[in-house]
Amino acid sequence: MYTLPLARLIEQLQRLPGVGPKSAQRLALYILKRPESEIEALAQTLIDAKKQVGLCQACYHLTAEPVCEICRNPHRDSQTICVVADSRDVIALEKTREYRGKYHVLGGVISPMDGIGPEQLTLQALVRRVSQQKPQEVIMAISPSVEGETTTLYIAGLLKPFTRVTSIAFGLPMGGDLEYADEITLAKALEGRRVSQQKPQEVIMARLPIVTGK
Ligand code: ZN
Repeated sequence: MYTLPLARLIEQLQRLPGVGPKSAQRLALYILKRPESEIEALAQTLIDAKKQVGLCQACYHLTAEPVCEICRNPHRDSQTICVVADSRDVIALEKTREYRGKYHVLGGVISPMDGIGPEQLTLQALVRRVSQQKPQEVIMAISPSVEGETTTLYIAGLLKPFTRVTSIAFGLPMGGDLEYADEITLAKALEGRRVSQQKPQEVIMARLPIVTGK
């Protein structure tokens, strides 16, 4: 149906999240119509971003510097750390302009079905950070799902000896994604946070391995 280089381009584009076969074809045909210089600039931008953007040494948010802008900002409150699954969640929370503390990005949630245990996340770094810095509060802000709840409770258990652990009060349905919550919902959830409660799920969590990773 397509000449080989075009088929390859469509196939690559289709691997991107949210891009189906039709969108991939439309993007590919658009790319072919643009001047070569423009496409070279796009390709270079992709390579530069991939090479230059890494993870903050302190909070694991995406940054081109050793330490991210949020961590470096002296006006941010170091006494509050908000724990999120992904850098996308930092961006979503920053958009609310309600939160003035710092973050910790886990890099995912505990999901034994997908082979993701505590050691695949930045959990050991979080425990070290909290035990050393002793912030006044750690806010758990993980999208509500079975895995998200398990992760929240597991971490709350680990951090309780060092600080007050709260969870943001989602007005979101189970499976609702932090990233897609509108800014007002998210700001309200942050405002209505409460101390993490012990729940029966903690019995399951006790069977999870002790953190040994990063
Ligand atoms: Zn940072």
